[in-house]
Amino acid sequence: MIFTVFLPVYLRNNKTMPVNKFQHELKLFEERVQLSKKIVIVPHFNPDGDAIGSALGLYIVLKKLGKNVEIISPTIYPDFLKWLPYNNKIRVLGKKTESDPSIFQDVDLLIGVDFNALSRIDNIKDRFAGSSAFKVLIDHHPNPENFTDILISDTSYSSTAELVFEIIEATLLKKYFDSDSATALYTGLMTDTGSFSFNSSNPNTFRVVGEMMKAGVDKDKTYDKVYNSFSVDRMRFMGHVMLNRMVVIPELKTGYIYITAKDRKSFNEQFGDTENFVNIPLGIKGIIFSAIFIERDNFIKISFRSKGSFNVNKFSAAHFNGGGHINAAGGESHVSLHETTEKFVSILQTYSEELKNYEY
Ligand code: 5GP
Ligand code: MN
Repeated sequence: MIFTVFLPVYLRNNKTMPVNKFQHELKLFEERVQLSKKIVIVPHFNPDGDAIGSALGLYIVLKKLGKNVEIISPTIYPDFLKWLPYNNKIRVLGKKTESDPSIFQDVDLLIGVDFNALSRIDNIKDRFAGSSAFKVLIDHHPNPENFTDILISDTSYSSTAELVFEIIEATLLKKYFDSDSATALYTGLMTDTGSFSFNSSNPNTFRVVGEMMKAGVDKDKTYDKVYNSFSVDRMRFMGHVMLNRMVVIPELKTGYIYITAKDRKSFNEQFGDTENFVNIPLGIKGIIFSAIFIERDNFIKISFRSKGSFNVNKFSAAHFNGGGHINAAGGESHVSLHETTEKFVSILQTYSEELKNYEY
């Protein structure tokens, strides 16, 4: 064991690990980590459990390696992640700081996690693109853009966190992997698979989970912290949404939810409260396609979810300027909430043959 650190990546690497195909990238990544004094990790804007979990999991091992490392989040992250180890170290950019020209100054290595396009880091994309740092992107979304020096991206991973785990496992970082890093990564994996209800049919996901548990993850506590931590307002908000804001179109196997700005105010919405509402219609027997339309301050935020082969990534890209994965995608609309849902229902008619005949 003691010698493993000195072996080249390809000899240390368990041949069965899917990350093996990135041998060249891993070697370069490892070299850059060793050379770098200052490292910055960037999740996508409005980061979710996978983006924050991946960033923290990597942060923790790099810190233990002795690096000067920082996580810079383009925007705030949900409260249900605020128990994660070291989450208080995340630098969240706000209205005042997002234009700070110095955010990537003197940075040797910039690591983007859980996004496939510069537009996903919206407010800081120009400075990311313009930074002279060596850049790495670690992601699991389809069709990644080419804007970094190294791209480690593979859609066969349940989550970016699963991929980050394998990168740690295959490099010098393995020595520094601990229960804190494992907990952060497990949270990313758990949330991106809806607690193993989707996106997790690859047996490797469970191999990785096994390794994380060996490292000390408390699986039940993690579930409880993430999913059983709602406010009373949020519970009542969900009740309102299910009773008054859900439209079901059984013949098209589709259900959708719309939320007005007034609803958000009435239920004292906190960031992250509407997370997972989009899955509610999929709990109805026979429904395979669901959508949610949320009236935000300047636009309508949309999420799509599906079961099986109905591709919401394509649907969102074609009609709502968005993207994501086959079964989970997001998009946006810049007309009113009412016009947006009308547009959705009329587009739906053009998919009626596909949806009607859909077997799942
Ligand atoms: P959510 O619906 O939870 O916001 O996002 C679901 C998935 O779609 C995530 O993987 C997210 O990265 C992706 N996604 C969400 N919104 C957008 C968007 O506006 N554009 C693109 N390209 N992807 C998105
Ligand atoms: Mn993800």
